[in-house]
Amino acid sequence: MDAARQRWIEAHPYLAPVARLDEAVAAALDAAGPAPAVAEPDLAAYVADYHEGVPLLHSEAAALDLAPAVSGLLGELVARLAADERLPEKLREGCRAEAAAWAADPARRLATARWALSTGEEGAPPAQPGLVLFLAWRAAARALAPVVATFAGQRDEARWGHGYCPTCGAVPMNAWLVPGEGVREKQLACGCCGTRWAFQRIGCPHCGEGESNKLSILEVEGEGGLRLDVCDACKGYVKTWAGEGDPSLLLADWTTLHLDVLAKERGYERKGVSLYEL
Ligand SMILES: [Zn+2]
Ligand SMILES: [Zn+2]
Repeated sequence: MDAARQRWIEAHPYLAPVARLDEAVAAALDAAGPAPAVAEPDLAAYVADYHEGVPLLHSEAAALDLAPAVSGLLGELVARLAADERLPEKLREGCRAEAAAWAADPARRLATARWALSTGEEGAPPAQPGLVLFLAWRAAARALAPVVATFAGQRDEARWGHGYCPTCGAVPMNAWLVPGEGVREKQLACGCCGTRWAFQRIGCPHCGEGESNKLSILEVEGEGGLRLDVCDACKGYVKTWAGEGDPSLLLADWTTLHLDVLAKERGYERKGVSLYEL
């Protein structure tokens, strides 16, 4: 574990169980070997959809089918996590239950992957919806990483500007003020696939509100540059990090779950996808 991560968990001991789960999933994905190759999407054919605001994974023109790769990784993940004695018994039991359902009906695992990738919009939910959604998106992020990198290098960032992920369409819960001279660029960070994209500095990604009297900042004491950007038009919020250093730690939704509790206490609602309702 790197030092920054260790310090963060020591300062927030209630995050230790979710940190252990995060590590167990990463280790299981590593042990499963290289993620199954995902065919390169047709980015040239996708441009028109991009300009219309259609995320890459939702575009028929892009023809990117992630479900077979995610289905394969899901099978590996449930088998490995079920055997991991560091994890809570309830979670291991959930993994065993899904593994048994898929062993009896192999087509069901692929259908479950499609359900998770549509964040529950298409098809019937599995027996353990929270667990499967979490595992499927961890698998998807791993399989998609090369595509996310290529897409970041090729898309016209200024043409997006939407408050949802250009890759997978998820609503973000985290943002980052990119370090630099002068006014810092704001990027939203997807908690599902890991894409980061530029967004207007002042504005609510959930409802589009841009009037500054409806938008405010709740500073969080002693949290190394973390704050809540809240919107009184829709009661949504974004956990925004303005610190320096490696963003991957503090832009991972799970490392700031305590800020969701704080936001709820103040009367704000979590609008983004929750992968940690296990
Ligand atoms: Zn995404
Ligand atoms: Zn809003």
